[in-house]
Amino acid sequence: MKPIDATDTTYKGRFAPSPTGPLHAGSLLTALASYLDAKAHGGQWIIRIEDIDTTRCQDQWSQAILHQLDFYGLRSDQEVVYQSKRLALYQNAFEQLQKFELIYPCSCSRKQIQHYLENQTQQAKHQPIYLGPCKTQAAKPHQAWAWRLRSDVAVSLWQTKNSLPPNYFNQKNSHILWQDRLLGEQSQDLIHEVGDFVIKRSDGLFAYQLAVVVDDLHQGITDIVRGQDLADNTARQLALLSCLGTSEKVLPIWRYYHCPLVLHTDGEKLSKQNGAQALSTTENPLIALNCAALQLGLPTQALNTSLAAALNNWTLNWHQKIIFEKIRPTQ
Ligand code: GLU
Repeated sequence: MKPIDATDTTYKGRFAPSPTGPLHAGSLLTALASYLDAKAHGGQWIIRIEDIDTTRCQDQWSQAILHQLDFYGLRSDQEVVYQSKRLALYQNAFEQLQKFELIYPCSCSRKQIQHYLENQTQQAKHQPIYLGPCKTQAAKPHQAWAWRLRSDVAVSLWQTKNSLPPNYFNQKNSHILWQDRLLGEQSQDLIHEVGDFVIKRSDGLFAYQLAVVVDDLHQGITDIVRGQDLADNTARQLALLSCLGTSEKVLPIWRYYHCPLVLHTDGEKLSKQNGAQALSTTENPLIALNCAALQLGLPTQALNTSLAAALNNWTLNWHQKIIFEKIRPTQ
């Protein structure tokens, strides 16, 4: 894997949609926030199509998403990256994890794991989540298996490897802590709340967690701006980062900004699954952009403003927000 230059902190952000359907108002909010954050920092904004899960993603949606982003004036500063074309990188990372015995094959079905957890004794409830037989025994060779990361080893690696400023990233006990620019300090007990998580699925596909960490590392991403529904993946990704950066003394500092979600009237997150409407590519783009901007606390633009001028104005507004953040860092 490409050596990590952790001293290079030139802003590089990404927007990483999964092509399981067209973009909707919720995805536009994230795309706009990540775009403005990159531009306001004088950085680069890169589109990454997360089409690793070939059972759910379709090329027609990748094309539709790129067309929608283009229509809203949000264009990648580098060639668009497709996860489906980067399997060799993920395989390389997988082999590295295997070499250091940080992962193990697990042939338990979800049902078996559920059964196992339900039958844990009270005392065992304080043990790491999922201490199923696969962790200690070789998985049965004829069964399909998934590969899980040893969360306890990953957390101890995180604790020993991490040479980052303590006020930015910190750790105590088995909790992984991180600062979110919007949400403030966040923490998760990876071992007891999440357990050993899958990095390669039993159908042979690399899991989202592995692909996203490999890509963020490999692409030299410095800033992750994404929806708040993804915030609880962060500890998993930091732990995985410390496992993949095994030869690095200093790990890259990823800054996080988890944006608010656009909700349905019933309070549910707007999503493709619950029938969110596709973003229009025929009406004035400023109509949907104004909605997203309002939710991000930015002023709306007159509908006869040019798209370029509107994005530029919002970049200036966002820049003011960043300055304010620096004067009053997250609580
Ligand atoms: N592909 C993910 C999604 O569409 C986003 C992943 C990320 O930003 O880390 O929800």
